[in-house]
Amino acid sequence: MTDNDKTTRTTCPYCGVGCGVLATRREDGTVTVAGDPHHPANFGRLCSKGSALGETLSLDDRLLYPEIAGKRSDWDTALDLVAGKFTEAIRDHGPDSVAFYVSGQILTEDYYVANKLMKGFIGSANIDTNSRLCMASSVAGHRRAFGTDTVPGTYEDLELADLVVLVGSNLAWCHPVLFQRLEAAKASNPALRVVVIDPRRTATCAIADLHLALKPDTDVALFNGLLSFLAESNALNKIYINRFTEGFHKSLEIAGPCEIGAIAEATGLERRDIALFYKMVARTEKTVTVYSQGVNQSVAGTDKVNAIINTHLATGRIGKPGMGPFSVTGQPNAMGGREVGGLANMLAGHMELENAHHRRVVKDFWQSPVIADKPGLKAVDLFKAVGAGRIKALWIMATSPVDSLPDADSVAEALRVCPFVVVSEVTRTADTVPFADVLLPAAAWGEKDGTVTNSERRISRQRPFLELPGEARPDWWQMNEAARKMGFGEAFSYGNAAGIFREHAALSDYRNGGSRDFDIGAYKDVSDTHYDSLPPFQWPQAAESPPADTRFFSNGGFFTEGRKGRFVPVAFQAPRRRERAYPFILNTGRVRDQWHTMTRTAKTARLMSHIAEPFAEIHPDDAARLGIAAAELVEVKSPHGSVIVRALLTPRVRKGEVYVPMHWTDQFASRARIDAVVAPETDPHSGQPGSKFTPVAVSRVSMA
Ligand code: SF4
Repeated sequence: MTDNDKTTRTTCPYCGVGCGVLATRREDGTVTVAGDPHHPANFGRLCSKGSALGETLSLDDRLLYPEIAGKRSDWDTALDLVAGKFTEAIRDHGPDSVAFYVSGQILTEDYYVANKLMKGFIGSANIDTNSRLCMASSVAGHRRAFGTDTVPGTYEDLELADLVVLVGSNLAWCHPVLFQRLEAAKASNPALRVVVIDPRRTATCAIADLHLALKPDTDVALFNGLLSFLAESNALNKIYINRFTEGFHKSLEIAGPCEIGAIAEATGLERRDIALFYKMVARTEKTVTVYSQGVNQSVAGTDKVNAIINTHLATGRIGKPGMGPFSVTGQPNAMGGREVGGLANMLAGHMELENAHHRRVVKDFWQSPVIADKPGLKAVDLFKAVGAGRIKALWIMATSPVDSLPDADSVAEALRVCPFVVVSEVTRTADTVPFADVLLPAAAWGEKDGTVTNSERRISRQRPFLELPGEARPDWWQMNEAARKMGFGEAFSYGNAAGIFREHAALSDYRNGGSRDFDIGAYKDVSDTHYDSLPPFQWPQAAESPPADTRFFSNGGFFTEGRKGRFVPVAFQAPRRRERAYPFILNTGRVRDQWHTMTRTAKTARLMSHIAEPFAEIHPDDAARLGIAAAELVEVKSPHGSVIVRALLTPRVRKGEVYVPMHWTDQFASRARIDAVVAPETDPHSGQPGSKFTPVAVSRVSMA
């Protein structure tokens, strides 16, 4: 370190754990990073991705100037064109003929401005986000049970629990620092047991006392059985059920009697393992159930979430130290987006688009000419509408839908026929950028200024420590300027991220009438200086004095009309039968050292060396039957598309199932874009795609 080195406190841009990072810019221009010992998410820890952040900051591939039709332009000309095309489409075809598709990578302030423009000034709710692919089922499940999208617990609960049940969550690879905290808690608390419920034997199983490798999409059968078991073994908290909840008896009736044999048949699990799991839960007061994409990314995702929550409401194990259902989000700011209405069916301040009172509150506060009065198109439907010619102008921000949406080749075709596509990006993503009529250079991590919210409702600052390169600009600025050119200048005069944060906080305060039990109203008058130095905080919290406890619902106080928690009756439906031509079930997910479509993590040899190329995990018995040898190339094919990747023979996957990572795109490997294979089927409540259950065929690729 020299006197001229400068250290900035910021937040990791990768996963929803939201670790604090100390980024030090050295005199020679290099950047080194370390975990922030004072950040309550990580207390100094970082995982492999977080600790490699300094190696991913090169300007290679960076977009530095606006482009129109592939030619360099300038901001004024480019935004004139954007504003003109959007205005023209709205005039000729109505507000629902335009759409924004944004990302859990953008900051809360970016999200706020984009939502305000679309919902309050354009008058459509056609703004959705790639977070739809990550946690929309948890949002829908929370709203059904709690009345709002509120995570009841905190990370500390995993350390205080005596039983942590991880459902559809490879915490070791997808939320590594949270896994490290759990691992350390297990080492110091001999009573702590960990159960992993996942069709695959993942890295997380290294600390599991019990692994339940259930058949894909049978979680509802397992958790309905648990609810019945709790009732039959006198493990209910009847006082909590009677005082603070409604709908218990109906849910229990739908769950039916606890017949272990039938549950074993449905889930493919051993009877003794099911019985052991149920007894562990029944006997352990301090139980936390963590769930992630294996629950959410399903056509039954919302029902799975409610089946889990039902068991916590039935035992009163919610919002108390070491107890509760806990959804962990994939992206760094999936949660911040949820707080400002980043989904097509939500409004800012956790308000609901379908609630007339909420619409009035938001419209009054924004003093806006209109307010969208019906939910907009959710991600998969939005791109179907683009392909059908119903969307005339589309703005994509910080995401590559041609790589990440299911049936991705159809998404590419939709962009090809869309009359006007704007892409705001940091790098020249190979698969989506070529469809841009206007390409706008965005600020990257290290240059951005704003806030993100992690999975435990903790708001942290992302602070800049690098100058904006070329003419790159923050996403909120781009929306702000476009709005001004569309004639909405009075409402879009933000000078910095702090001003947007203040307005969001003021809306929160306006909605709650000064009540401090929800959201961030206490920060409505925060100064620029205070905002700049804002320490990480968990809402609800007063600006000056932290409350004793930031958990929710231990004594009721749900956000439903009668303030009661709602049991949601969920009936198990067996996953659809496979067609003879597609006998395998495709599961997709992350690997430890890559992030999304690898635009940042592929920049460092250290991360690339973990797993160098895409692969398909296949059970050795299936491989033998199909004549596939280890490391041979195989084709994984559905009616939507196919990939060719190397076979990794392993008993980690169940027979009849195949697992392919989601990261590789055409930029990094030929024909490895797995989302081209994934079926575009979605959960009816959340609109989240079932990315972990696509019937596919697997065959050896002949090299002749
Ligand atoms: Fe970043 Fe997530 Fe790793 Fe923390 S756990 S350092 S937030 S990738």
